[in-house]
Amino acid sequence: VWNNCLLFIKDNIQPQAYKTWFEPIVAVKLSDKALSIQVPSKFFYEWLEEHYVKILKVSLTKELGENAKLVYIIKMENTYGNKQPFTEKIPSSNRSGLKSQDVDIPLNNKNPELRNPFVIPGIRNVKIESQLNPNYSFDNFLEGDSNRLARSAGLAVAAKPGGTSFNPLLIFGGVGLGKTHLAHAIGVDIKDKYPEKTVLYISAEKFTQQYIDSVKKNNRNDFIHFYQIIDVLIIDDVQFLSGKTGTQDVFFHIFNHLHQNGKQVILTSDKAPVDMQDIEQRLLSRFKWGLSAELQNPDFETRVSILKNKLYRDGVEMPEDIIEYVAKNIKTNVRELEGAIISLIAQSSFNKKEITIDLARLIVEKFVKNTKREVSIDYIQKVVSDYFQMDIDTLQSKTRKRHIVQARQLAMFFAKKFTKASLASIGSQIGKRDHATVLHACKTVDNLSSTDKQFRKYVEDISKKLTV
Ligand code: ADP
Ligand code: MG
Repeated sequence: VWNNCLLFIKDNIQPQAYKTWFEPIVAVKLSDKALSIQVPSKFFYEWLEEHYVKILKVSLTKELGENAKLVYIIKMENTYGNKQPFTEKIPSSNRSGLKSQDVDIPLNNKNPELRNPFVIPGIRNVKIESQLNPNYSFDNFLEGDSNRLARSAGLAVAAKPGGTSFNPLLIFGGVGLGKTHLAHAIGVDIKDKYPEKTVLYISAEKFTQQYIDSVKKNNRNDFIHFYQIIDVLIIDDVQFLSGKTGTQDVFFHIFNHLHQNGKQVILTSDKAPVDMQDIEQRLLSRFKWGLSAELQNPDFETRVSILKNKLYRDGVEMPEDIIEYVAKNIKTNVRELEGAIISLIAQSSFNKKEITIDLARLIVEKFVKNTKREVSIDYIQKVVSDYFQMDIDTLQSKTRKRHIVQARQLAMFFAKKFTKASLASIGSQIGKRDHATVLHACKTVDNLSSTDKQFRKYVEDISKKLTV
């Protein structure tokens, strides 16, 4: 039965399409009017349903009559690659296609609907710039628990692009955790090992722009063809595609084509597929075919080694305790970690200052504060007491010693100025005072800073520290 169907199909579609989509199918069994066929992957099955359902229906009806049924058996590989095949049966009557009773398509091979839209007649020989940044390599992508899975999956893909079950390889994780770096590193490594392969790195944003341009210029097909001849396609920040249905659609087709032809796709995203919003289900399901590997926040040791590596490469020496201080305080973003070290180096060389813990603290606070926004009353008390070289307990104590009273009043004044806390709340947090005391403190600071030069300097210095 199946052979007869094949003969019929072969006559009615392009040879290339027949070869790609029908030769790999194995007829498994025929019971009553249901023919079971085995297809290599779920993707394959979806593609058949999407593009060839009509011709399948026609050919099957010819053979088995009106009640013909087709059952797909999907041979799948487990995502982790150790080839544990399992099968999944999908009765095609669950899907739109073969349920319908009437077949009314004209069967001639000039019907565009029956032609594989993505068979390229004679691919031109185009040279494609890979857009890779050679500075992002595996060598300087330091390994830690936080990135071990993603990094080694990347290495595996680079060793055998398209030849592992990590296809697509999706790298996801928060801002500044190394997604772009790792994506480039894979591409760079592939180019190294397989110079003849066409590798392309592109951000999803740029991809979208190109696509929109191509639609405007009426060469959408050229756009598609361009992407279909790539061996390794790396798309950075795919979350950018959310809500962009046209681009998602074209990407879906490009993806299918590449995947089907054993080409490697590497994607990065700031979210796991399950958390992606406004991305079509069929795309999300493709994303999940391969491996999704997360980049997590690096642990302390990894942060220290990233910093040391960076300093080493820049030829800068820095005391161990400073490196550790920075690594201890910046935890969730490697870019900021590096940024803090760079600005520390810059500050010290610019002001010809030695790199001290104090300088480090100042810079780190700035980085941490930028992400946290508001200054806290605790932080204000800390800055003020550091400035007067006393500890916070002293600042909060009941003592009437003049310099301590002044420090306390300054802390209250800045708490009023830099936070949204009420007078009462400020008072209770700074040594359990009442709101009248805080109000009095604010007035005193105002008065003193207009009459006492030394005191004005205190206000200016502390203010600067709080606002760096
Ligand atoms: P993302 O794309 O996730 O926002 P990036 O790839 O741009 O992050 O990384 C931010 C910075 O951190 C880059 O300079 C990158 O080189 C560096 N970086 C991230 N992870 C590592 C790592 N494991 N080893 C060395 N540098 C890293
Ligand atoms: Mg990035």
